[in-house]
Amino acid sequence: MTTGNINVSVENIFPLIKKFLYSDHEIFLRELISNATDATLKLKHLTSIGEAKVEYGNPVIEVRIDKEGKKLHILDQGIGMTADEVQKYINEVAFSGAEEFLEKYKDSKDTGIIGHFGLGFYSAFMVAKKVEIITKSYTDAPAAHWTCDGSPQFTLEEADKKERGTEIILHIADDSTEFLEENKIRELLVKYNKFMPVPIKFGTRTETLPKPEDAKEEDPAPTKEVDNIINNTEPAWTKQPSDLTDEDYKNFYRELYPMQFEEPLFHIHLNVDYPFNLTGILFFPKLTNELSIQKDKIQLYQNQVFVTDNVEGIVPEFLTMLRGVIDSPDIPLNVSRSYLQADGNVKKISNYITRKVADKLSSLFKDNREDFEKKWNDIKIVIEYGMLSEEKFFEKADKFALYPTVDDKFYTFEELQEKLKDNQTDKDGKLVVLYTNNKEEQHSYIEEARTKGYEVLLLDSPIVAHLIQKLETEKENISFVRVDAEPIDNIIKKDEEKISKLSDEEKDKLKGIISESVPQEKYTVQMEAMDSNAAPFLITQPEFMRRMKEMNATGGGMFGMSNMPEMY
Ligand code: ADP
Ligand code: MG
Repeated sequence: MTTGNINVSVENIFPLIKKFLYSDHEIFLRELISNATDATLKLKHLTSIGEAKVEYGNPVIEVRIDKEGKKLHILDQGIGMTADEVQKYINEVAFSGAEEFLEKYKDSKDTGIIGHFGLGFYSAFMVAKKVEIITKSYTDAPAAHWTCDGSPQFTLEEADKKERGTEIILHIADDSTEFLEENKIRELLVKYNKFMPVPIKFGTRTETLPKPEDAKEEDPAPTKEVDNIINNTEPAWTKQPSDLTDEDYKNFYRELYPMQFEEPLFHIHLNVDYPFNLTGILFFPKLTNELSIQKDKIQLYQNQVFVTDNVEGIVPEFLTMLRGVIDSPDIPLNVSRSYLQADGNVKKISNYITRKVADKLSSLFKDNREDFEKKWNDIKIVIEYGMLSEEKFFEKADKFALYPTVDDKFYTFEELQEKLKDNQTDKDGKLVVLYTNNKEEQHSYIEEARTKGYEVLLLDSPIVAHLIQKLETEKENISFVRVDAEPIDNIIKKDEEKISKLSDEEKDKLKGIISESVPQEKYTVQMEAMDSNAAPFLITQPEFMRRMKEMNATGGGMFGMSNMPEMY
């Protein structure tokens, strides 16, 4: 038996580990299962190149709770370790990693640091007062048994384990007994390990078998106990798009969000290996105007291990409304969010995602415009928000963004310009785009405009004031006017002049009466005849006044999207 001191300068590293990773104790299980997975895949590799002359078989990773003994076991059938390897990989390497980490972060109070440090094996000490490793290498070397109680002292002795692989035994600490609960462990396995590449067994489950041919009606169907495997080792995003059907994508969506009953509108399969590595599938969910707090978010994985569902800084903000999975080993995780946003690779990843989404939308638009128009109301909020926040996206989206009219025609901006250019210009030749954001409230104004042969757009998303502002600056010679903002004849140039049926005297009198009953600071009362058949006066809410108000009301938050709590 060997005893020794783990070579670290920090007197007792474990209380520090505990303190630093306090909020994230649960990741210990992910780390240990990642190690078990690595060990299994290493063996797979070695057998495939003929270096390990053993049968690879169908290795499984098992998680077992021993409630009475207050222990949690993680077993694998992977490569294993010799005593020398334990000495090297556990005592030296892993500790130096921990030390480096502490050195780097000991003065840091940056709460923006992502809670996942990949501290690996030693994260076990966040929940265990003592850890044992019993391991048998795939070689002929005898098995080894390592024990450490959280002080820098360890023991290492021979063991009689016969089967290849590693068993990690955690003696759960008194303040961490929740990790002895079956429900808790299941929850963690589902959260972090649901798509890992080696099967993970947690208990057994009863499977119902088909009834034999000669069974009687009243005979119960036979059952059998089978391993309860908690993961899908080949999730859709790891496959080639050409090998997947629409149904496969929908099934994967349900697998990702079991509580989500609405089907996604469409998906985008991401797959790139240069200059960075990234795979994934994004889904466009149905989004309504009243964006509720979104709990089903995009999930970030690294090599099929769940990392986080906070993708802020990695995915452009406007796309955080989408759902799905991104898997990339090239995203640094042990850094603060602000660092992440400055990282060159992350910037490239973010741009790539934006481009792929724009390209997908563009091809949906080109390939099946009718369908795209049908979906427009459900996707417009993402597109409009993207046009406001990402210049590159604006350039592409400008070609497929749609502007629906009150009577359900859909124009691209270019088509709109073409449509309006002869009939809807002001006296300076500027294009006048009439719009409404509320068909019911502005009904009579809309009717008025329509009888005069003008198009009225229905722009009703919550960020429309900002979008209009953006379009007016981006495009030349265009002005958006809400349909109730001013008498149409004042803005749109017409050849013939309107003659009012009222005399000047009558107008003044009427104006006086009406003005008294309308709040002056909000509305304007005008007596110019709207139309020979229409009422002789008009109460309007000037465009600039209202727009100022709208922008101020939504100020503070980015683009005024204060009703979107997840957007910041
Ligand atoms: P990392 O996984 O980043 O290398 P860890 O601290 O998680 O760091 O693990 C340190 C090393 O210990 C691993 O690289 C591996 O060599 C060894 N190891 C840990 N767990 C196992 C295991 N279950 N089977 C074989 N080797 C393991
Ligand atoms: Mg590890």
